[in-house]
Amino acid sequence: MDNCKNCKKCGKIKNVTKFNKNKNYKDGLQIYCRACVKEYKRQDYIKNKEKISIKHAEYYLKHKEEIRFQQNKNKEARKIKAFEYRSKPEIKEKIALRLKKYRSRPEVRSQTNINIKITPALGKRKFEQK
Ligand SMILES: [Zn+2]
Repeated sequence: MDNCKNCKKCGKIKNVTKFNKNKNYKDGLQIYCRACVKEYKRQDYIKNKEKISIKHAEYYLKHKEEIRFQQNKNKEARKIKAFEYRSKPEIKEKIALRLKKYRSRPEVRSQTNINIKITPALGKRKFEQK
C-alpha cells in the first residue's frame, strides 16, 4: 500500500505514479489524481473558454515578435538536432532496420512495390530545393 494513495476527488486508491508532484503537500504529491486534475482542467476550460482564449490572444498580440522568434529558433534547433541524431551510425542502422522490418510486413509489402520507387526520389527533390 506504500505506493498507493487515495484520491480526494474520485475516492479511488491509485498508484502514486497516477498523482502529480506538489511540494506544498506533506507527501509531495497532489491530493487529486491525474485523471481528476485533467478532468477539472477540462471543465475549467469549458467554463472559461472565452476568457482563456481572450487572455491567450492578448498575450499573443503583446508578445507576437518574441513568440515568432522563439518558434523559429526552436524549429531550426529541432531540425539540426534531428539531423544530427539521424546521422549517427547506430541510429541510421536502427532506422534502416525498422524500415526493413516495416516493409517486410505483408500488408505493407503489397503497397511498397510502388511506394519504394517514389519515396526516395521525392525525398531527394525536397532536399535539393533547400
Ligand atoms: Zn481521482
